[in-house]
Amino acid sequence: METIAAVATARGTAGLSVIRISGDKAIETAAKVFCPADGSDLCALAGYRAKFGHIVLDGKAADDAVALVFRAPKSYTGEDVCELSLHGGLYLTDRVLQAVFAAGAVPAGPGEFTKRAFLNGKIDLAQAESVAGVISAASAEQARLSYGVLEGRLSQKIKQVCEDLTGCSALMGAWVDYPDEEIPELERANLTETLRAAKEALDTLLANYTGAKVIAEGVDAVICGRPNAGKSTLLNLLAGEEKSIVTDIRGTTRDIVEVSVRFAGTVLRLYDTAGIRESSDTVEAIGIARAKQKIEQARLVLAVFDSSDALDENDRRLIETLKGRDAIAVINKTDLPEKTDEALLRKSFAKVVRLSAKNGSGLADLEKAVRETLHTASFDATGENLISERQRMDCVAARDAVAQALADAEMGMTYDAVGVMIDEAIDALLRLTGQKATEEVVNNIFSQFCVGK
Ligand code: GDP
Repeated sequence: METIAAVATARGTAGLSVIRISGDKAIETAAKVFCPADGSDLCALAGYRAKFGHIVLDGKAADDAVALVFRAPKSYTGEDVCELSLHGGLYLTDRVLQAVFAAGAVPAGPGEFTKRAFLNGKIDLAQAESVAGVISAASAEQARLSYGVLEGRLSQKIKQVCEDLTGCSALMGAWVDYPDEEIPELERANLTETLRAAKEALDTLLANYTGAKVIAEGVDAVICGRPNAGKSTLLNLLAGEEKSIVTDIRGTTRDIVEVSVRFAGTVLRLYDTAGIRESSDTVEAIGIARAKQKIEQARLVLAVFDSSDALDENDRRLIETLKGRDAIAVINKTDLPEKTDEALLRKSFAKVVRLSAKNGSGLADLEKAVRETLHTASFDATGENLISERQRMDCVAARDAVAQALADAEMGMTYDAVGVMIDEAIDALLRLTGQKATEEVVNNIFSQFCVGK
């Protein structure tokens, strides 16, 4: 395979930038642009060793740098790797990269370093997918979730289920090949027991995916309520809580604002909408229509009511709009004397939280209600988790095949029929970890990576 190179750090002016080179000729390529200060030969350097020296461009020293050498197979890609750390200027980084290309390396494609790590057996496909999540993590739980997969927790679980099923498959094969042999009752019971345990393990992974998806991807959430209910104040409270505004995009209409905040262990993309009121103003009517649409699409709705005032027509319309949704009613301004009809709100919403957006009291209750609504209350980001739709689909295929094998075995179907379903389940699990993934699936995963990863 050709020797590849790319800038591994973000593009911009920074303290350092790192140029990563991987392949058979990685170190000799690096040696053409980097000269150790002690006059030693970089090509003779052992793995896991670094040398301080100079970048040499057009025969002249152009920057101080450090070359870090990894020897195959003990590197990220499993190949020889040299990482050049130089000062992080845009001009110099580009010049050195061009010099590395001139010395024989070719530009790395998107995700090619991680793809090589996968192809060389350093990590499986599930772990490779998690690299993107670790890099883009915007909350502690998001980072923990992706790193758990990178560490191999999911892969170990899948491997264990796969091994158990392979054991069953071998047993089935033996029974099919030697039909006259008596099958001990104990072995038959062991088979159904193993299938049941495999099904349970896959069911647990699938059940936890609801929470994992929320943590991994974040959710769209809408704050709605009549004017002056305290929507903006609540939004600011949430945004300021951990001083963690990730983006701050003003909507194209005058009525919807988006702010992404870390809250309740995930990232909420919050939309502060116009109230659901009747309006003859065309611009305002568009805003209200958009608000309704957002409410329909959102995974989470926080409906804010002013506790210091009686419910009005706008409030009743909102209650009506949210019928059947698992929205959270936020009774705001609880620091003021109460006039609202709390009993009606409790009757209309599955979850009601009393809060003062102004002084922050009740925020912990809101967090609890959000976690319960999003099914992340008891979610364990450090456990074994699926983190992509691709993984979920392979897991569903495996679970369905195991369930079928179990039902067939319990009904006394022929062993080759049961064996076929077990092999189907094994195939699905091998697709999940990449041992049997098609080239198209593999290419599709890595094409979504950026260059240098
Ligand atoms: P919005 O129109 O729903 O976005 O409402 P705002 O967030 O702009 O709040 C309207 C008014 O209510 C402002 O004067 C806020 O300071 C006030 N307000 C908001 N939340 C509270 C609260 O919890 N307690 C009290 N006393 N006032 C609040």
